[in-house]
Order: sequence, then structure tokens, then C-alpha cells
Amino acid sequence: MFSKFSTTAKNWKIVLILVLCLFVSSAIALGIYNYKDSSKIQAVEKEIHALYADEKDVYIREDISQDTLDQVEADIGKVFFMKRWKLQKDFQSAKEKYEAAKLLNQIFDSKLALKERKDSDSVLSFREDLTYEKLADIQEKINFSRQDEFTDRVYATLNESATDWNQIIHTEDEVLAFKKSKKSDLSPQEYLTEFFQLEEEVGRTQRHPQSVHAQEALKEVAIEMGDTLQLDDEDYNFDEELMDKISNSPYLNDGKKGDERKLVALTFDDGPNPDITPDILDVLDKYDVKGTFYLLGSLVEVYPELVKETLDAGHELGNHSFTHANFEELTDEEILEEINSTQKAIKKATDGYEPKTYRLPYGAGGKRAVDLIEGMTSIIWNVDSEDWVSDSAQEILTRVNENLQDKSILLFHDSHEHLVPVLESLIPALQAEGYEFVTPEEINYPYYYY
Ligand SMILES: [Zn+2]
Repeated sequence: MFSKFSTTAKNWKIVLILVLCLFVSSAIALGIYNYKDSSKIQAVEKEIHALYADEKDVYIREDISQDTLDQVEADIGKVFFMKRWKLQKDFQSAKEKYEAAKLLNQIFDSKLALKERKDSDSVLSFREDLTYEKLADIQEKINFSRQDEFTDRVYATLNESATDWNQIIHTEDEVLAFKKSKKSDLSPQEYLTEFFQLEEEVGRTQRHPQSVHAQEALKEVAIEMGDTLQLDDEDYNFDEELMDKISNSPYLNDGKKGDERKLVALTFDDGPNPDITPDILDVLDKYDVKGTFYLLGSLVEVYPELVKETLDAGHELGNHSFTHANFEELTDEEILEEINSTQKAIKKATDGYEPKTYRLPYGAGGKRAVDLIEGMTSIIWNVDSEDWVSDSAQEILTRVNENLQDKSILLFHDSHEHLVPVLESLIPALQAEGYEFVTPEEINYPYYYY
């Protein structure tokens, strides 16, 4: 009984030792496993950190690939399941940010990362193919499980985009409504005030290509207003603030905002001249460009064939009065006689062509003359070659180049021989700079007299 007991006790001891061994060995095994697993976790943590552009894991890098993301996800799967939870949360957050950044790039015409956007404070414009439906869809798709500086910026950007979009639609409606409205009851001040309000609104969203309709409508309003009001007319007594706005308004002064084209109109006054005009026609023909000739009725009667030849070569003809009188010194009747007799002479020389535009001799005559001459547009100039001042082609070229604007109406006289070498040099230079040669009317210069 006793020995039986001692045998049993002995067995117990063995069992105890065995259990102890098992415990120790599994503790060691678990320790090793744990050690190995925590280095695995650290490796995955590093992988997740590498998805970010900054130390604090806030701004996601946009240049990572789907493969990289898949690799991180696969590596998380290899970690002991009890310890995956935190890694999965971190990875999920990175993935959401990556998706959001990709979606934002479908809104904006830029590949800048959000961090760079923030740092550079750059203003982004919508992609041309963005639609309202697409914007709403993207807004719906973007969701974050955590909140930080990045997600705040994304939400703010989305809100700004929606606001801009609504603003574009609203502004377009407003400009169109103003365009259609009757303005005859408006005083020039009210007309301009309304216009500048619209100009400011259009300006707020004009970086987005979707605002092009509002811009075009406003352009038409500006042209109509330029036709209705003589904005440099002292009779209006505009206050200083309004005068400032007039001279700084891009839509009024540039003719067309958003029209980045470089336009030039070559105009030649005081002809026809049998010694000079044919040479000028040759140069224009050589470079395949068209000009506009402001003719004196008295000379048209002497050289009608030259006038016909000019028209047949594809150039525009304009009225520059009959005797080159200063309209300032003429009566209303005399002014109309100067214009009408020249129209008649040109019509006769060309078998029926009637100029649509005229140029006041010396640009003189003011609002009185312009109001008097109905049914035709007064064309002045914004670049004076002063070709009558000097005989040096180089001097004239320098002056033209110094005064050249994106929308230029150039004044020449086909009464000066040295004009040919000027044009020989100027035309190819303008062509190389991308200038289009147009009629002066196409430039929409808002002034009609000097
Ligand atoms: Zn003249």
C-alpha cells in the first residue's frame, strides 16, 4: 500500500516534471514566435509608413501603385491574426486617402499632391471633362474612417468645388439675363455698375473651363456696352472710382478676356498713291496678309483702278474723308458731305463696294462727328507708327515694337516710300510671334475718336 503510494508519488513527480518541461518549452516557443512576429509587425508598419509623404503619416503619396498596396495587404495577412487589427486599421486609412487623392485628380487639372497643393497655395482649376454628375459622384465616394489635417483638406476642397460649380451656373444665368434685359432705362452709371458686378462674379470662377459660357456672354455685353456708351466721354461725369474701374476692366479694355489670340490690323491711310500703294500690295501679297486702306475720296476719283486692284487683292477699304479736312472745324453738313462723297467715289471705282468703317482725319471730330455718321463704325488706332516723322525704317520699326499690344491696330500711311522695308521686316516678325492679321473691326477697340 505504502510502496504503491510511493510509486504513485513517483509517477506524479514525473508528470509534474513533464508538465513543467512542456510549459517551459512552449513558453520558449511562444517567445520565439512572438519575437519573430513583432519584427514582422514592425516591417509592415514600415511599409505603411512608406505610403506617406510626411513623417506623421498624414499626407498620402500619390505616386504609389496598386501593386504596392496589394503587397502591404498581403503582408498584414501573414501577421498573427490576434495582432492584425491595428495594422488593418492603419492600412485602411491609407487606402482611403489614396483613393480620395485619385478621385480629386479627376476633378482638377493638376497632378499635384494635396500636401504640395497646401504648401504652394496654388489655385486649382477644374478639368475640362468634369461634369456636375461626376463631381457629385466623387463627393459621394469619398469617405474617411479617421479624421486629420488631410481629410479636413479633402472635405474643404470638395466643398469649395461644389460652391464654385454652383457659382458658375448662377453667374452664367445672371449674365444671360442681363444680356437679354432692356437697358434703355439704365443711366450710364447704372449700366456700368451692373456690368462691373457681373465682371467681378465671372472673375471669381473664370479659371474653370466650365465658366466659358458666362465669359462669352459677358464679352458680348462688353461689346454692346462699348457700342452704346462712349466711355471716355466727359459728358457723363463719371466719378474717379468708376473711371478707375473702366480703365482696369479686362473685359472692356482687352476687348475679349480669355481671348488669348494675338491680333493685328494693318491700316494704311491717305491713299491711293500710285507710287507707293502697288509696292505695299506686293509686300502684303508676298506674306499672304490682308490690310485695310482708309482712302481719300479726292484721290479715289483720280486713281480708281488702283482702288479696284486693292479690293480685288482681298483687302478692306475704308473711308478717310474726301479732302482730309479736320472735322473739328467743319459743320455737321460739311462732315457728312466729306463722308458721303467719299463713299460714292469708292462705290463707283469698285462697281458697288461700300466701306463699313471710316477713319476720322487726325482722329479728330469727337463724339459729335461719330454720332453724326450713322451706319458706319469709326476706327482709330492704338499703335501709331509715326511713319511721317522719320525716313528711317529702323526708327519706325522700333517705335512699333515698343508700342505693340496683343490686340493692335497699326497706323501707317501709304504715302511714304520707306514703308516697304518696314513691312518687309515687320510682317514676318509678327507672324513668327503668332499674330493673326485681321480687320480692325475684329479687334473691338472700345474707342472711336481721339
Ligand atoms: Zn490721314
